[in-house]
Amino acid sequence: MKIKNTKQFAHDLCDWYRLHYRKLPFRETSEPYNILVSELMLQQTQMDTVIPYYSRFIQRFPTIKDLAMAPQSEVLKYWEGLGYYRRAKHLHDTAKIIVSDYNGVFPNELNAIKKLKGVGNYTAGAIHSIAFNQPTPAIDGNVVRVLSRVTAYSNDVSTKESALYFETILKSLIKHETPRDFTQAMMELGALVCKKKPLCEICPVQKQCLAFKHHTQEDYPIKKSKKPIQHESYFTFVLQDQQNQTLLIRRPDKGLLANLMAFPQYLTSDIDLAIKRFNEDFNVTVKHASYLFDIEHIFSHKKWHLHVYRIKTDSDISSHNTYNLNDLPEAISKAHLKIIEKL
Ligand code: SF4
Repeated sequence: MKIKNTKQFAHDLCDWYRLHYRKLPFRETSEPYNILVSELMLQQTQMDTVIPYYSRFIQRFPTIKDLAMAPQSEVLKYWEGLGYYRRAKHLHDTAKIIVSDYNGVFPNELNAIKKLKGVGNYTAGAIHSIAFNQPTPAIDGNVVRVLSRVTAYSNDVSTKESALYFETILKSLIKHETPRDFTQAMMELGALVCKKKPLCEICPVQKQCLAFKHHTQEDYPIKKSKKPIQHESYFTFVLQDQQNQTLLIRRPDKGLLANLMAFPQYLTSDIDLAIKRFNEDFNVTVKHASYLFDIEHIFSHKKWHLHVYRIKTDSDISSHNTYNLNDLPEAISKAHLKIIEKL
């Protein structure tokens, strides 16, 4: 093991955390439901963005039972703008399962937590250690960055062997401290101090950090090169009638942005073909298509390039689903929310 004094490391880290931790709304409680909501929101989303969403969500759905009883469209509405809506659906499903299978009481067994929808190893570890104060490791990108630097770990961090390596180190550390403090302290160190550009001068574990000793902090973590992002180019159409009602569709219930409201769009580089397909899909005759602007939206594995056009037609669109964009009853995809904000 490359950390010589694990007890000292754990104490130094947690002493620092107890003095410097950020007073975040989800740190006011150790309720597993609240920890689950915050952890799911924080996947793929920055802390500053999450805080107001978390507060609004908990105000509307204060308990797991409140969430389980709510319609999915309302849950998605409270998630609107956070993106990655699959997280909201998993959270809603999990609430329903806990109410039906566990009588509304959050399970405290690690294996049962891991079986909940949307809960991977990291989230299960975070809930088990933070909410139930158990010495269970929670390994996310922040933790990997810190430990790969502290131990000058020279292998690719994305392999199974590496996950086992970091898990072993965390177990050797967490046993010396209060688990819920330790887990949050590791996360906080990665978020505030051992960042991409580390602030080693204020780091509480600097004395035991091999990368600091050898001035190689920025060499870690070592990652194999990622797959290139896939680019997709769409023509996206905004069709409004005289009453300012806008044509929207519901996306399919599987795949990217499943079930969310969206503007119709066509994956092609030919505007005439896109208009022809639009005419066929909605049985309208396009009089004029005027270019508005371009929008880009990045997902984890692909990037959308949306060329947004306003469509003019004399056709009656009242038989289609049209909405007032200022008062949408359902959640709209984040990519298309950007369009509404620019209209
Ligand atoms: S000393 Fe620097 S590199 Fe090492 S853990 Fe602390 S912040 Fe990270």
